[in-house]
Amino acid sequence: MAIRTRPARGSNPPPDAGWPSIQDPASLARALEEWFPGEARSLPWRRERSGYRALVSELMLQQTQVSRVIGAFERFVERFPTAAALAGAPEDEVLAAWQGLGYYRRARLLHAAARAVVERHGGDVPRTEHELRALPGIGRYTAGAIASIAFGERVAIVDGNVLRVLSRVAGAPARVADAASERWAWEQSARLVAQSSSPAVLNEALMELGATVCTPAAPRCGGCPAEGGCAARRAGTQAAIPAPRIAAPRRTERWTSLVWIDGNAVALERRPDRGMWAGMHQPPTVPTPGGGDGPAWPCAVREVGAFTHVTTHRTIEFTVVVPDGAARIPADAGWTRAPLGGLDAYALSNAAWRTLEVAGLDVTRPPAAAAGRRAPRRAATGS
Ligand code: SF4
Repeated sequence: MAIRTRPARGSNPPPDAGWPSIQDPASLARALEEWFPGEARSLPWRRERSGYRALVSELMLQQTQVSRVIGAFERFVERFPTAAALAGAPEDEVLAAWQGLGYYRRARLLHAAARAVVERHGGDVPRTEHELRALPGIGRYTAGAIASIAFGERVAIVDGNVLRVLSRVAGAPARVADAASERWAWEQSARLVAQSSSPAVLNEALMELGATVCTPAAPRCGGCPAEGGCAARRAGTQAAIPAPRIAAPRRTERWTSLVWIDGNAVALERRPDRGMWAGMHQPPTVPTPGGGDGPAWPCAVREVGAFTHVTTHRTIEFTVVVPDGAARIPADAGWTRAPLGGLDAYALSNAAWRTLEVAGLDVTRPPAAAAGRRAPRRAATGS
């Protein structure tokens, strides 16, 4: 689970250029396996184990905080209790159930993976990393996590939490979102899991340690089972390891959204099937190049507000407009007349919900969407 790093933008030397290794992997594996049972958080996907629950939770956790996933996970598996139930659901229903978790591409991939599980494996999530990696959207990390944690296969995992723990313990000059660092971490993780008594416990312990003790900003070394053999702790270099990712340049865009209320309905359009928020609904929205006339709408409009929405790679400055006077939603615009009392049946991004709120609508976001405006970045590696 965690920081799904993208391949290398960094400039680290290759790991075989003298990076240190974990000195005593057997002792570290033993310490982690002894520590985890007493420290593991009680999480819904841990209380009842299955391949399907592991699949759902791993996809949800890739880029979203645990605290936000908990409620969403329970609602999701209640609504879609099996891979077959998920596979048979319409995409709009799956996207609506994913609201608030962000990064909707994951919902589509999970949906596609569930269909593949039904078609290729009779509805049972496969048990090996090799078979799992053949499912849509399942990379090395996710396959390893499901295979080891749900089925006990002896395979390694590396995500952002694991990379941080391993690089600190070894004192290696790793960097976040760096391919050389990831290769090094996969090698170290494999050495550890080879020494473990239980790959499931070892891998969850590594992830848990990174999430709760060996945190990015303030590691609690005094309560860490790896403290005795940790190079970063000895050298006092925890804050410098791993080095931060090299940030990609962010671009700014300006969009205008029209909130058109007609009786008890609001106009929504469906976004294209590819790209950001693919297939989701939103108030009609167009890019707004600076300097010229505003967008051409089928009615006169007036501006009622603005807000800024930040995504991974861009900052979007939204201007929100409404019809200037009463007007019927045109039937030929290709928009949906969505009932104001039934908006939770539509998959809306957090930006779309915000647009409606800025226009003055007293909307009730679904619970997961209300939990936060934007998911934090997490990263797993090798997926
Ligand atoms: S001793 Fe500190 S830096 Fe080292 S692994 Fe533990 S928490 Fe992380």
